[in-house]
Amino acid sequence: MSRRRILHGLAGIALSGLVPGIGRASRGAHVVIIGGGFAGGACATWLKRLDPRLRVTLVERNRSFPTGFFCNTAVAGLRPFSCIRSGPVGLAARGVSVRIASVVDIDPVARRIRLADGTVLSADALVVAPGIDMRLEAIPGFGPEEAARNPPAWPGSESALATVRARLRTLPEGGTIAVVAPPAPYRCPPGPYERVSLFAHYLRRCNPRAKILILDAKDAFSKQALFQEAWGHLYAGMIEWHGRQDGATAREIDQVAGTVLTASGERVYADWVHVIPAQRAGRLAQHAGLCAPSGWIDVQASDLSIDGLEHVYALGDAVQLQPMPKSAFAAYNQAVQCARAIVASFAGAAHAPSAMANTCYSLVGRHYAFSVSSRYEVSAQEGLAVANAATQLSPLAAGQDVRQREAHEAEQLYRHLRRECFNTE
Ligand SMILES: Cc1cc2nc3c(=O)[nH]c(=O)nc-3n(C[C@H](O)[C@H](O)[C@H](O)COP(=O)(O)OP(=O)(O)OC[C@H]3O[C@@H](n4cnc5c(N)ncnc54)[C@H](O)[C@@H]3O)c2cc1C
Repeated sequence: MSRRRILHGLAGIALSGLVPGIGRASRGAHVVIIGGGFAGGACATWLKRLDPRLRVTLVERNRSFPTGFFCNTAVAGLRPFSCIRSGPVGLAARGVSVRIASVVDIDPVARRIRLADGTVLSADALVVAPGIDMRLEAIPGFGPEEAARNPPAWPGSESALATVRARLRTLPEGGTIAVVAPPAPYRCPPGPYERVSLFAHYLRRCNPRAKILILDAKDAFSKQALFQEAWGHLYAGMIEWHGRQDGATAREIDQVAGTVLTASGERVYADWVHVIPAQRAGRLAQHAGLCAPSGWIDVQASDLSIDGLEHVYALGDAVQLQPMPKSAFAAYNQAVQCARAIVASFAGAAHAPSAMANTCYSLVGRHYAFSVSSRYEVSAQEGLAVANAATQLSPLAAGQDVRQREAHEAEQLYRHLRRECFNTE
């Protein structure tokens, strides 16, 4: 399947397994979704699209937030923060009841949730999509206080992203940034390398003698050959990557001195240490006891249900569904699969799981992007695990026209997902 077909096939995947007559038994059934990001928003949209008679309540703590997708472009000044702002309130026009409130407790057996103001909501089906939390205990010297002063902005709030942008802009002439990259799995595998590329895009013009060192907890990273080729072309001599095999994993950080002690015992000095920490499922999922020892929620690929709980589902970055990455595109596909399964189960109909897909574009310059696309079959033989059926990478040594076209496709995908998940332009 070509990237273009995957991109334009989002809705096709969603509709391919519709069961005739679905929705007959769902009158009045109430689905409560926790989290109004890409995963929760897409699930709400598809539940109402598949069966308008369902009562769907989506609970999200923030009226508006910056999206992770394209947040690096805002940090680098390629677009204003207003262009990446989104939120779920537009979903009311699709018949979704949107509550702006924090969920403080989940009883997954009774399918009841409690909001910060004490309100209790009961559901016939519960969908948990709270995104991620940072493991701020993972590296000594980078705890909650340091993260508040020097935020990972993954993406966090608009002010966190603005702090990162300000640090970039105030880097001393010819200064060094050390970027500490996390171990897998984490939100958006190519995201740290896209961020570094767009830092370089800004610095090449405004601070051309600056350097960026990546200290990675991994031996390799997503789209590595494509990134490294692009860094050679666009930002020669500016970016250095050191992996785990080089002993570069951060063991301790001293923000005041600006040093990172690495696994090899070396102390690396930088004018700014930007840390993207290890991650786990959103705090609420941990608090509710929904996470496996890995820190993520285990789900069935066929319907996104959580084992051992009836009519309780989880989606998006909070779940571990290897080899699907944690991306907005993957979250969207999971949401569609889950919505179809919920509607089928209320109708007493069989749910035929569909294949899922992902495309991740990475921007390394204003008009320069490449991508990786995968299609994932849901295999009954493999205990309903996701089997990686096909992966396609952009070619190396491609012309500027190819990179420019992919940058345009990334923009199209972003707009499409915003419309689908948030009902915003
Ligand atoms: C730098 C970067 C670049 C990225 N680039 C891309 C890209 O190019 N393409 C792509 O597809 N993806 C990209 N992503 C990934 C994408 O942003 C995430 O995969 C996506 O946001 C996951 O959606 P989600 O709904 O699971 O989580 P989120 O978007 O985080 O949504 C979870 C929501 O749950 C809410 N919530 C949590 N707890 C509670 C509670 N107790 N009560 C009420 N609400 C709660 C949160 O407020 C949040 O809004 C990127 C991410 C980053 C950081």
